[in-house]
Amino acid sequence: MRKKIVAGNWKMNLTLDEGHQLVAGIVKNLPELNSDRQVVIAPPFINIQHTFYQVEDTPNIFIGAQNCHSEDEGAYTGEISAAMLKNAGAEYVIIGHSERREYFNETDALLAKKTDRALDNGLKVIFCCGESLDVRDAGTQNEFVEAQLKAGLFHLHKHQLVNVVIAYEPIWAIGTGRTASAQQAQDMHAHIRKVVAEQYGQAPADNMTILYGGSCKPSNAAELFACADVDGGLIGGASLKAADFTGIIDAMIKA
Ligand code: PEP
Repeated sequence: MRKKIVAGNWKMNLTLDEGHQLVAGIVKNLPELNSDRQVVIAPPFINIQHTFYQVEDTPNIFIGAQNCHSEDEGAYTGEISAAMLKNAGAEYVIIGHSERREYFNETDALLAKKTDRALDNGLKVIFCCGESLDVRDAGTQNEFVEAQLKAGLFHLHKHQLVNVVIAYEPIWAIGTGRTASAQQAQDMHAHIRKVVAEQYGQAPADNMTILYGGSCKPSNAAELFACADVDGGLIGGASLKAADFTGIIDAMIKA
């Protein structure tokens, strides 16, 4: 059964103390979540274990990491492995965020390896895709996103897909205040689901959670989440304020 998810990506924001306050505020106001509705919080690595302890008794709220290394272990100074994340309490890891693709030169081939390491180590993957404004203006966004999925994800076996969530994040909408319209989001999500169905069959595609990300906030979440193929959101800026994040969670619960 397809789950609805709201995932907060804190990026490189909030100290341990600030993160503690934020999570306390979120948990205090969190409505009861059925098992088909999940909340994921993806803080910086250093907060993961602490945040896990804060939420471990609250059903259906999970910890995510924002990245992991593509190897299991070894001499990679400054890096964090999927096994370390799992052991610290993470359930999810975000792979292929556009900021990592752009600022850290993460290629499709590397993202495919990271996806494998994450799944091998029992993490679920939130795999990000999305086009730049140039691609959108050229009208080739469907082909662009399809190519990202093929290169980063479609080497997986069908049975692995239950542990994969796709997040469509048009780069022109991330942190810009410019949201994709509900129709633009729905069109791309339907395309992604069609591409997954062509590769793996209709049932895995129907069960796939596809999140929208890009300037999602309490005021536009309900409209986005009402779209047939939008199963929740990956939230950046608005995940840093308890009231905003809770407002978006409310929209997901009602959708
Ligand atoms: C993100 O970076 O994943 C994101 C969606 O950011 P924002 O919500 O701030 O646009």
